[in-house]
Amino acid sequence: MLDDLFTCRCCESDDLHEVFSLPPIPLVGAFTKESKVDVEKFPITLLFCQSCKVLQIRENIDEQILFNQYSFSSSTINSLVTHFEDYAAWIKKLVNPKSVLEVGSNDGILLLPLQKMGIRAFGVDISSNITAIAGAKGLNVKNIKFGVQNQTEISGWIREKVDLITASNTFPHNDDPNGFLKTARMLLSDGGKISLEVMYAGSLEENLQWDTIYHEHLHFHSLTSLKNLFERNGFYIEHAEITNMHAGSLRVLASRVEGAMTESAQKILGTEEHRGLNRKATWIEFAKRSSSAISICREKLIEQNLLGPIAAYGASGRATMWIHAANLDFIQYVVDASPLRAGHYMPGSDIPIQSPSYFKEAPPSAVFVSAWNYFDGIIGQHPEYQGTWIAPLPVYLQKKSEKNEKP
Ligand SMILES: [Zn+2]
Repeated sequence: MLDDLFTCRCCESDDLHEVFSLPPIPLVGAFTKESKVDVEKFPITLLFCQSCKVLQIRENIDEQILFNQYSFSSSTINSLVTHFEDYAAWIKKLVNPKSVLEVGSNDGILLLPLQKMGIRAFGVDISSNITAIAGAKGLNVKNIKFGVQNQTEISGWIREKVDLITASNTFPHNDDPNGFLKTARMLLSDGGKISLEVMYAGSLEENLQWDTIYHEHLHFHSLTSLKNLFERNGFYIEHAEITNMHAGSLRVLASRVEGAMTESAQKILGTEEHRGLNRKATWIEFAKRSSSAISICREKLIEQNLLGPIAAYGASGRATMWIHAANLDFIQYVVDASPLRAGHYMPGSDIPIQSPSYFKEAPPSAVFVSAWNYFDGIIGQHPEYQGTWIAPLPVYLQKKSEKNEKP
């Protein structure tokens, strides 16, 4: 179930350096129906590749265990629905494809707006339960892993080569990024392109997002590391930009013909060099700052817990990371809007997950917003709440709800 990595997944170099490690943590998708504190936990070690500059985690968990039954249904998050409508418009404007294949199509959140624009949209996803949701919407989806071993089957299914292959936040789930790009090349039409949205290593560093370094996210890219990986596989960066998704993502467009990069892409590459994202020392410093953020948050929450019960908001991977890395086992419950999560327990804990309506019925004294990247949006959804809102990152922040401040 757990394989350790000794050479880089992207460039096969053994020039890997450990920069950060966390104590064993359960898989963030291991929600249980019963309170269960003894689920299996796995260490997390972040490595920096001196050769291609990618960050990756050493531990490789069997992907069937990670993704077969997936509890993240994108369309339950309003801001993601808007994001993917915008992304579909971006695709239409920059690429104008007749057909698109999305890898990791989840519940069809991108396929739906693409189809509405008249684009033939196909989606593959490794999670059977989430693919079934997309299928029920009448979308062209297939429950299959995207990779060399399934290339013939996918090719037979889509029948004609596609003009664009895209993946939003699923590319780093793949333990064989070179195999992914080889497969993409075979399935693309002449002049076909690839676009990826990945969590951005620059935002990871800037916002101290150690809480996204969990077993599902095998690699974290800068534009420099993606450029190295793409060129190794015959793709060339055309354009890149930074978006707000997941507190900072990189959106990249690449083609099979080498040409000039946009100014935006060139600027990002220059900034990465200037900020030291390509240097090991930067990531060692990131690790120190992250460890300090974990300690500070734990101390503050222990103080807050003396004043009254604390609930967390957002049963995302970040919440599991905080609960286990900072030992927040005193949290009373976690609020989450996804029907796939409410009624379960947080991985490896006896902390139940409740729906937002329960939060209104039994408001805690303070709310630890584990989904801190949606901090203002979550506060906006609960004008009725009177108490303290807490965000752990990018810097620890605590604020009373406005109504409470009035005498
Ligand atoms: Zn490498």
